[in-house]
Amino acid sequence: MSKKTPAEELKEKLFYSPKHANYVCSADEIKKADKFCEEYIAFLNACRTEREAAAWTVGEAKKNGYKEFKAGGKYKAGDKVYYVIQDKSVILCTFGKKSVAKGVRIAAAHIDSPRLDLKPNPLYEDEELALFKTHYYGGIKKYQWPTVPLSLHGVIMKKGGEKVTVRIGDEEGDPVFVVTDLLPHLDRQQADRPMTKVIKGEELNILIGSRPFGNEPSDKAVKLSIMKILNEKYGIIESDFLSAELEAVPAFPAKDVGFDRSLIGSYGHDDRVCAYPALRADFAVKKPEYTTVTVLTDKEEVGSDGNTGLQSAYLEQFIADLGALEGVPGRDVLRNSECLSADVNAGFDPTFAQAFEKMNSAFLNKGIVLTKYTGAGGKGGTNDAGAEYVSEIREIFDAAKVVWQTGELGKVDEGGGGTVAKYIANLGVKVVDVGVPVLSMHAPYEIVAKTDVYMAFKGFKAFYDAK
Ligand code: MN
Ligand code: MN
Repeated sequence: MSKKTPAEELKEKLFYSPKHANYVCSADEIKKADKFCEEYIAFLNACRTEREAAAWTVGEAKKNGYKEFKAGGKYKAGDKVYYVIQDKSVILCTFGKKSVAKGVRIAAAHIDSPRLDLKPNPLYEDEELALFKTHYYGGIKKYQWPTVPLSLHGVIMKKGGEKVTVRIGDEEGDPVFVVTDLLPHLDRQQADRPMTKVIKGEELNILIGSRPFGNEPSDKAVKLSIMKILNEKYGIIESDFLSAELEAVPAFPAKDVGFDRSLIGSYGHDDRVCAYPALRADFAVKKPEYTTVTVLTDKEEVGSDGNTGLQSAYLEQFIADLGALEGVPGRDVLRNSECLSADVNAGFDPTFAQAFEKMNSAFLNKGIVLTKYTGAGGKGGTNDAGAEYVSEIREIFDAAKVVWQTGELGKVDEGGGGTVAKYIANLGVKVVDVGVPVLSMHAPYEIVAKTDVYMAFKGFKAFYDAK
């Protein structure tokens, strides 16, 4: 080892520079991260939509000793409960030693991801091809979605109220579906369109078949043959689409990326890459000081509206129910509560460096990113976390040797975005955003680094374990 110069020593003492996890973690810890991510990959492949993630979470929670929450029930420190909202959002909760009058510790991640939803009346035939009309969900770059194999997930409520679950396109042997694109030989007009219109919303039609019913030409015979298959497979008729929620998502499975296998490529990292570590942290916590509330929510990608989104009352109501167990008003629980809003941030991408301000960007493998504020246009629409609360979280992370960094979503006035932080802040709770840096966010195939995923788990666990 060469001796450090006085300047180097002083720089080390005085300057801030986040480090690559590889330079601060033991080989054993890197191994733990890889192992954790094998489990995360299995979760990603099992859960392609919010409904599937919610159902999976409840199943695993039960195996980990969680019981369904009963308002008015009797609970003691270490007891674990789950609470389901409309099959699309889930709350996990581990009771703490302190009264909820001292507040609860919330980690809130979302389990919905950008995708193509089928329209209520989706099925049609055009020139002997059968297609589904879609309406995209969340902020997608529409041009990324054609020529990507898609699977179909969701539920159909048949007339009479029977619920049929659909999941097709992800298993070996399943067919897939696809949105087509124009060949480069004939794209002169398309090439003149601006990026947001290279593929238009009404061009996101999913190809689902081409073989007509019977051997006599007849009108809409391809549509008929598809409807017949759907009728035989799911017992549905066309009008049942009116009461369905069907979501098309990329059909490729999550995989290791890179020769060194240090990265994971998948659809839906945003925000399952925070949801999974958060739920695992709740599973792992034993008898915490403060009651933990792990919120896995729906509808973040469309603004948190709707009764399964965090602008609705469901979290406030659940916390009021927790308070009622001890005769404490919900508002007294909320005003003493703290939250990590667990959502992804943009990882610095050297290929698109122009969009980032390097000093305040998050980098892959430098740990979880603490985002003090989000928003756009002069911090518009942000929860700007207070210095005192950021300080508290910083101490918790450092004490638990969590590798973390700070990050802002791109250059000032380059764009912007938000999370659920502000809706939880609106309840009077202290909130800061913490999550995993992602490359190609909202694309059909997003990239994260394994060490960062593991640090998210460590971070949420440390927050829950903190005194
Ligand atoms: Mn997100
Ligand atoms: Mn998002």
